[in-house]
Amino acid sequence: MHASTPTLRLILGDQLNANHSWFASVEAHVLYLIAELPQEASYVTHHVQKVQAFFLAMAHFGQVLSDRGHRVCHLTLDQTVQFDDLEALVKQVMTEHRLDRFEYQRPDEYRLRVQLRAMSEALGCPSDGVETEHFLLSEAEVEALFADGKSRRMEQFYRSMRKKTGILMSGGQPVGDRWNFDQENRKKLPKSWSPPVPLLFENDTQKVDERLARHRIQTWGVAQAQLVWPVTLAQAEALVQDFVARLLPLFGRYQDAMTDRDWALYHARISFALNCKMVTPQWLIGEVLKAYEQDPVTYELASVEGFIRQVMGWREYVRGIYLSQMPEYGQTNALANDRPLPAFYWTGETKMRCVAQVVEQTRAYAYAHHIQRLMVTGNLALLLGVAPDAVDEWYLSVFIDAIEWVEMPNTRGMSQYADGGFLASKPYVSSGKYIQRMSDYCQGCTYNIDERSSEDACPFNSLYWAFLHRHQSTLGNNQRMAMMYSNLKRIPTVELTDILNRADAVRRDPDTF
Ligand code: SF4
Repeated sequence: MHASTPTLRLILGDQLNANHSWFASVEAHVLYLIAELPQEASYVTHHVQKVQAFFLAMAHFGQVLSDRGHRVCHLTLDQTVQFDDLEALVKQVMTEHRLDRFEYQRPDEYRLRVQLRAMSEALGCPSDGVETEHFLLSEAEVEALFADGKSRRMEQFYRSMRKKTGILMSGGQPVGDRWNFDQENRKKLPKSWSPPVPLLFENDTQKVDERLARHRIQTWGVAQAQLVWPVTLAQAEALVQDFVARLLPLFGRYQDAMTDRDWALYHARISFALNCKMVTPQWLIGEVLKAYEQDPVTYELASVEGFIRQVMGWREYVRGIYLSQMPEYGQTNALANDRPLPAFYWTGETKMRCVAQVVEQTRAYAYAHHIQRLMVTGNLALLLGVAPDAVDEWYLSVFIDAIEWVEMPNTRGMSQYADGGFLASKPYVSSGKYIQRMSDYCQGCTYNIDERSSEDACPFNSLYWAFLHRHQSTLGNNQRMAMMYSNLKRIPTVELTDILNRADAVRRDPDTF
C-alpha cells in the first residue's frame, strides 16, 4: 500500500548522502524536503562559516536531486521562519502537497532523534525512520557491539574493525606487523619549513549572509570574502584527491604539530564534508588505500594507517559511544568541574600565545586540528576546572565539523574526562612543556615556559601540577598516571605551595592572564 502513497521525505543538513537508497530511483509520489531551519541555525551560536557551509551544501544537494529528476522542496529561512517549529512546517508542506506519509533518516544527534520520533507520532499519519546508510557500521551492529554499556577502548574497537574489514591486514596480521604507528607520527615542524598551499574554494555566500542578517541569526567568527569549505560533492572529492596527492605523505609525521605559520598543515580538512555525509568513509578510505597500494614508498604506512585509524577507528568508535550512552553521557561531570568558560575562548584576548593563536585561527577558519583542540583549548579548560556543559557548547559552536554525536564524546570523554574514564584511560592534561615540544607558540609568548610559579610563569605549568594535586584522591591510583604522580611527589613542599598559589590566581581570574 505505502509503495505509492504520496510521501514526504525529510533530509536534514547533515544527511546529504546522494548514494542513499532513497535516491536509487525517481518516485513520482515522493517529495523531498530540504529546509534551512531556525532551530538548527540557533541551538548554539554557530561559527558563521558553519551555517554558510550547511546552507550552501543543502541548496546544492537539492539541486543535484532535482537534476536527477526527483521532486524537491528546498526552503530557505525566508520561508521557514514563519513556523513555530519543525512539526508545524512539515504539517504545512504535507497539507499543501497532499502528502499522507512521512519518512525521515534517523538523525545521529540524540536531540533530533527524540524530536523526530515524537513528531512522527504527533503527525498522526503513517511514518517511518530509516538509516542514513553512511557509516561503516550499521545501527544494528553498533547496538550489538555497545549494548552491554561496558567501557571499551578505542584500540580494541579499531583492531576489531581492521579484522572485520580486512583493511591493512595480511594473513590475519596487521600490515607492517604493528597496529599502530603513533611513535613515528609525533614530529615537530622543522624551523625551515614552509607550509603547503591549502586548496581553498571560493563559494559565494552573499545570499546566505543576507538571510542570516534578515532573520537575526546570531553567529560567531569571521566570514571570509568567500567560503573556503567544500559544499558540493565535486569540491569534496577534489579536496580529498588533493590531500592524497600532496599532503598524505607527510600527514602522519606532522599530524600532531602546531604552528603559527599556517592553519591547515597536512590535514585533510574533509571532516565537514564527511560529517554532512557528502562523501562516504568507505570511499575516503578507498582513496587512501589506493595511493598506498600503488606507491608504498611515497605513502608511508605510518601516514596511511594514522589516517585510516581516524576514519575507521576513532570516528566509528565515538559514534558507538554516543549512540549507546546518550542521554546520560551528556550529564557526566566526574571531576565536578564548575568554573565558567573564560571570555578569551570567544575573544582570543589572552597573553597565552598558544591559546590566542588557536582561538584566532578558529575565528578565521572555523577549524583547529585535533591536537590544538585537545592539548591547547581542551587541556586548559580541564586544568582550569571549567564546567563540561560550557566546554561542550564552545566546541559545538566554533568548529565547522561539530555535530553533537562526534563533538560530545571528543569533548566530554576524550578531552574533559567528564565520563570518569569510560572512553579514555586517563585525562589528557599536560603542562606547557608538551605545547613547547609540539609547536612554535612558546617563542615570543609573554610567559616563560621554564617557570612554574613566578609572575611570568607559563600558566599551564602551575595549573597542571595543581590539577594533579587537586584530584589526587580520584586519579592518584591510575596506573597510567603513576609517573605524573611520582613527579608531583618530588616537588619540594615550599615550591609546591608557590605553584598552587600561582594556579589559584590563574583559576580565580583566567581572563587577566
Ligand atoms: Fe602557551 Fe605557556 Fe607556551 Fe605561552 S609559554 S605559548 S602559555 S604553553
